Amino acid sequence: MKRPSPSNDTIVARATAPGRGAVDLVRLSGPRAVEITGHFIEPRPADRRPRYVYQARAGGVDGVLDRLLAVRFAGPRSYTGEDVVELSCHGGGAIARRLVEIAVGFGARPAEPGEFTRRAWEAGKLDLLQAEAVGALAGARSLIGVRLLERQLGGALSRLLDGLRRRSIELAAGLEARLAYPEEGLNEAGYRRELEEGLCGLDGELAELESSAAVARVTVDGAVVVLVGEENVGKSTLFNRLLGAEAALVTPTPGTTRDILRGELELDGLPLVLYDTAGRPELWRDELTELAARRASVAARTADALLVVLDARRPRIPDWAQAEIENQPALVLLNKRDLLEETPPDEVDGRPALALSAAAGAGVEELTAALRELLLPLNVDTAPTSRRQRLGLRRAREALVAARSALGHGIWDAAAEELVAVRRALEEVLGLVTDEDVLDALFADFCVGK
Ligand code: GDP
Repeated sequence: MKRPSPSNDTIVARATAPGRGAVDLVRLSGPRAVEITGHFIEPRPADRRPRYVYQARAGGVDGVLDRLLAVRFAGPRSYTGEDVVELSCHGGGAIARRLVEIAVGFGARPAEPGEFTRRAWEAGKLDLLQAEAVGALAGARSLIGVRLLERQLGGALSRLLDGLRRRSIELAAGLEARLAYPEEGLNEAGYRRELEEGLCGLDGELAELESSAAVARVTVDGAVVVLVGEENVGKSTLFNRLLGAEAALVTPTPGTTRDILRGELELDGLPLVLYDTAGRPELWRDELTELAARRASVAARTADALLVVLDARRPRIPDWAQAEIENQPALVLLNKRDLLEETPPDEVDGRPALALSAAAGAGVEELTAALRELLLPLNVDTAPTSRRQRLGLRRAREALVAARSALGHGIWDAAAEELVAVRRALEEVLGLVTDEDVLDALFADFCVGK
């Protein structure tokens, strides 16, 4: 695995998020980490055993700055593979900022976002997928997402993809060996079927990974759920009900919501970004309703799931909504069931429908359960968790589909070429071949201090 040679300067950063807090962590990594901290930490980290936490005083020119906990890690037995010193000081930010300044004064350089993890990767401590898991854990929005990232950090996704890569190499090698002697090799009884089965198996696994990607995205980043419906059906009331706050104005006047409102919530362990949109009348009354309706329709197109709200007394899916739900996972909700005397239908236009009363809060649990099922149809424990991984897997899959099609047409050498493309795409995802720009973008997404 080719990696850049390790950097030789010493970096420093606060690893904890800004804001009020009990404790802050300041990290240094590099050949001078121990020496630099020796200038302002007493007792000096150099005089203490590696990997043992001890109490120390940090001082500046102006006396004792803080009493803190220090620990030294001697490279290569550290996160980055270099000498590392970590200082846990009192929180709030001022002390941590000052410690960083002092370290810089003695020759350390403020770290770039993700630079500690980049060094860990350069030292071969982590592969690229594991490094990505470290970065993503900082923003994971649910425990299901954390579990996926934890498995990725443990190398589960890397092993899975590496297994697929090996299989693509074996298939390509077998094919290329036969291409050298086409007369006997390619016509050998059963070979074509064997290759077809190999490609089909690989394709199946890639397809499975692709579908689990949606689950990963939802649990790591949160699912985008958009409320759509005609005016006055109770979208804003439901929005407020789900958020548990009076975020949207609710009035009996049609067209109250014009702008798109956004709220974040967790429903039974599932992180959601919920949008309330303007109601869409069958006829646009004026420019403003038209603009608002257009915006709503754009928002609906980017959703992971749509909640189509209808008035239970008029259970009919409007034409515009038909088009939107055709291409997306959607739930049909019959709101204001309290105003309905008869039992609400459990199907509208051939789609299962759920009756509820947003105003009274009835049926919200059923809605939660149905949303969960819609967004997390699979129980996955290894899945691609980043856009970079998803795009790479898509490229691998496209090449594989092309390989299968070439084989179907008996164009053996094209199939061999596509198999090479499959391998290359998987190697890119695994970080075995890397592009400097991709790396820069990947680590730039990290927090400073990671
Ligand atoms: P939107 O235009 O779709 O966002 O609808 P709103 O949430 O503004 O609600 C329109 C009207 O319907 C308001 O007067 C709400 O109080 C009322 N409403 C909303 N949900 C219910 C419900 O479940 N039952 C009843 N009876 N009224 C509701």
